Amino acid sequence: MQQVLNIYNSLSRKKEEFKPLNAPNVGLYVCGPTVYGDPHLGHARPAITFDILFRYLTHIGYKVRYVRNITDVGHLENDADAGEDKIAKKARLEQLEPMEVVQYYTNRYHDYMNMLKVLPPSIEPTASGHIIEQQEMIREILKNGYAYESNGSIYFDVKKYNEKYGYGTLSGRDIEEMMSNTRELDGQSEKRSSVDFALWKKAAPEHIMRWSSEWSLGFPGWHLECSVMSRKYLGDKFDIHGGGMDLKFPHHECEIAQNTAADGGASVQYWMHNNMITINGQKMGKSLGNFITLEQMFSGEHELLEQAYSPMTIRFFILQAQYRGTLDFSNEALQAAQKGLQKLFKAITVLDKIKASDKSSVNIDDLNQKCYNAINDDINTPVLIANLFDGVKMVNAINENKETINKDDLNKLKLIFKTFVVDVLGLVEENEATKDSLTDSLIEMLVNIRHDAKISKDWGTADRVRDELKKLGIIIKDQKDGYSWDIE
Ligand code: ZN
Repeated sequence: MQQVLNIYNSLSRKKEEFKPLNAPNVGLYVCGPTVYGDPHLGHARPAITFDILFRYLTHIGYKVRYVRNITDVGHLENDADAGEDKIAKKARLEQLEPMEVVQYYTNRYHDYMNMLKVLPPSIEPTASGHIIEQQEMIREILKNGYAYESNGSIYFDVKKYNEKYGYGTLSGRDIEEMMSNTRELDGQSEKRSSVDFALWKKAAPEHIMRWSSEWSLGFPGWHLECSVMSRKYLGDKFDIHGGGMDLKFPHHECEIAQNTAADGGASVQYWMHNNMITINGQKMGKSLGNFITLEQMFSGEHELLEQAYSPMTIRFFILQAQYRGTLDFSNEALQAAQKGLQKLFKAITVLDKIKASDKSSVNIDDLNQKCYNAINDDINTPVLIANLFDGVKMVNAINENKETINKDDLNKLKLIFKTFVVDVLGLVEENEATKDSLTDSLIEMLVNIRHDAKISKDWGTADRVRDELKKLGIIIKDQKDGYSWDIE
């Protein structure tokens, strides 16, 4: 079945039918994390959003080359051309080599993405691994006249670029307005204009991450890595570039300018941006200090959390909103996601046991079409999930003999759940967590039996439960006002 996928293009500001440049190959580039802190809930949303896109494109037959970078150098504190490098700062505070910080948080990021069942990208390049290519692009931009050297640093000439190509097309910003809104340069600045941005920065003496170049001992500007790595792995022109909405400006705007200034034309066909996770209406992020790490989410150890939430609950919670809408954090929403997920997997278990009848009273083809329509409509996961819950109702009705299903339709229904729940939405049943809580409940039950036995002075039973549990390494501790248990 040929699927028509419509996606919202941030550049044209409308939904467009996705047509790859070189079908069946698809090039997908997504801006990855800057690895200087523990992955938090805000990282989970872009990762899961583009994981669904990657999974769905693969499902409908495309051969996707998915590139997601790791920023390990050049991302300065205020995202502009001043301030300390985020990774270098962390390294200084922790007295570590910057690459120790990078390795540690890259590993953490991978671990948590695995737990969330986010598939690894096809290529995961790092900024520090592409210094030569970044210097090469700077030379091209210099040669084409859209950059200038100033005191060993290289800046992009936004004003000159704007005259020919127009700057601000993605974010809809007006450069004249931007220039009048930003403060006048004080005469001390190396830049010709406040809107110019760094391609290469001369390193201050205390700056440890530095490379030699014909301009200075320095490091690349943050925006450059994505221009360079997308071009290297996906070509001058490629299909989809994704990232968080907060990256639209200046990061992606600068990327467009750099690629256009180097190659003379736009490089990306479709720009896609996911919205943010908010807490009380404010964006969750490291810079605002209101974030909850994924470790805290999974353990429940954070003042805002009423309980621990499993990786699949978090994944399901994120999928409750269409990626372009905001998603507000709340315990109620997470608990609803947890319940919903249990209901979904329970239906899948029931479905496995259902016996086919001769006739169907349910319309499986219609359900299947609705599921595809939802995802084809700009990856509308909440509508897809609502359709899957119609499927859950159907399963329960068949199980209660209120509806019937024939063999053919039964197989189709099983395929719908496998395709959308497992393959596309990437949801799996968390057996481990279930086993753990089952074990806890069973121990609790035995300890209660012993307690009751003691109250009724049935010492034989009380001692037997205690001794048997002890053999398994579980110790019951009697306390003044009750008891507790622990594993040895
Ligand atoms: Zn980027």
